[in-house]
Amino acid sequence: MTERLDHFIGGEHRAPANGTWFPSTNPATLETLYEAARGDEADVRAAVDAAQRVFDSPEWSRKTPTQRGHLLRRLGDLVGEHAEELAYLESLDNGKLLREMTGQLKNLPEYLYYYAGLADKVQGAQIPTSSPEVLNFTQREPLGVVGAITPWNSPLTLTVSKLAPALAAGNTLVIKPSEYTSRTVLRLAELADEAGYPAGAINVVTGLGAEAGAALVADPRLAKISFTGSTRTGSAIASQAASRFIGCTLELGGKSPNIVFEDANVANAAMGVVAGIFAAAGQTCIAGSRVFAHRSVYDELLERVSERASTIRIGDPLDDATELGPLAFEDQLAKVRSYIEIGESEGATVRYGGQRPDVGLPGYFLQPTVLTETTNEMRICREEIFGPVAAIMPFDTEDEVLRLANDTDYGLAAGVWTSSLQRAMRMSQRLEAGTVWVNTYRAMSPMSPRQGFKQSGVGIEHGLESMQEYTRLKSIWINTDEGPVADPFVMRG
Ligand code: NAD
Repeated sequence: MTERLDHFIGGEHRAPANGTWFPSTNPATLETLYEAARGDEADVRAAVDAAQRVFDSPEWSRKTPTQRGHLLRRLGDLVGEHAEELAYLESLDNGKLLREMTGQLKNLPEYLYYYAGLADKVQGAQIPTSSPEVLNFTQREPLGVVGAITPWNSPLTLTVSKLAPALAAGNTLVIKPSEYTSRTVLRLAELADEAGYPAGAINVVTGLGAEAGAALVADPRLAKISFTGSTRTGSAIASQAASRFIGCTLELGGKSPNIVFEDANVANAAMGVVAGIFAAAGQTCIAGSRVFAHRSVYDELLERVSERASTIRIGDPLDDATELGPLAFEDQLAKVRSYIEIGESEGATVRYGGQRPDVGLPGYFLQPTVLTETTNEMRICREEIFGPVAAIMPFDTEDEVLRLANDTDYGLAAGVWTSSLQRAMRMSQRLEAGTVWVNTYRAMSPMSPRQGFKQSGVGIEHGLESMQEYTRLKSIWINTDEGPVADPFVMRG
């Protein structure tokens, strides 16, 4: 019988109130891995109850910031000890390469340690006043129960990016992981329990977006929603948050430009283009899906990228030699294939790929795909494909490529390949993207804040700045003068 995974609510595994589960499938083999609880409003209510109870309890609220730091550090140790197991489970669930996930999860404790170190550095300031008897100072306070909703492409890393600053700041959480990758987020909650978090500080309700996700967003007790996922879902969540005047942090989609200038090291740039769009089968928000190459190096870049694409080893993500695994689920494959067809119908040419390869496994495999004869106006260059599909376009001048690169609804990331320091600086300052990489791509760290511009997001994740996303600021005024109030219509401040 298929294994069943329950929610994790109030420190214990809890079967779904409606008694239903849904299957999770290995996208490489199409085997059913397990069934996860199909949560709905009743489960969400129980989880928010638990999170609110802990938030209000002295057991949590009287913990010193230093103690909160110790807990996060202990969780980081446990994640590190279980990194290989967690990487294996994520790779089974979403089809990403085991070696990529192993690297990612071995690094994940760094996120928890970073915020552990920040837990006791959340502080206010003393503000000058116009009277020596009046003090004014600020303090930062936790918000309350945070709802975290995360996608399937890097389930734990994207969850920890929210959980670590939220807990460091003293909040409690209800997490709704993607329906395609429930397992490791549940494991994280178990590890948090083992680390010594009070029961109910971290709750996980699994289920579908329109059911468990929507119920979580609708719960009036949430103090904040932190969401990573598509721009479409993010927009719906932002409307609901706005209607209740609660904050939301949104990390959304992208259509990032990767720009290769004539003075670049073209061999390295080609590898950067390959990394930007074919790593993780292009299923990353930061995918460099619009590649612009200066006309003088266009042919060479195209040749190098197509050549490398043709030698990419597609297959079992658990195999160390594999470079490209399957897409994560059937609809995802259908969507990416339909974009390739849309591109062709708009006049694009498939220079390489576009086909289902025979890799001896029944999963959702697709060749890395290079499209030429594309323009920035085509749908394939305007809409997020979220697959291994690169459009490579020539340009003539810096001003022209800047205009093309910025001509998008998104603003998540951008890559620039050049050997000119001046050009690197000019482009970094003028590109409308929250992250700009020069002569590299995909670099990331918990220490470096990231923000999506335009339709790529609201708010900041990572870095010192994200602590502010999980606190509110109170301004406190104290009059130290105990003498009579001379004029009630002119208070001192
Ligand atoms: P998605 O928006 O379909 O789902 C994300 C999460 O939202 C899932 O947990 C889903 O169940 C939930 N959800 C769906 N509908 C909901 C609703 N009506 N109410 C509440 N929750 C709902 O996105 P996805 O397909 O899981 O992820 C891919 C997207 O995520 C891409 O657009 C990608 O660019 C984006 N992404 C962004 C970043 C970033 O940092 N900017 C990182 C990774 C992924």
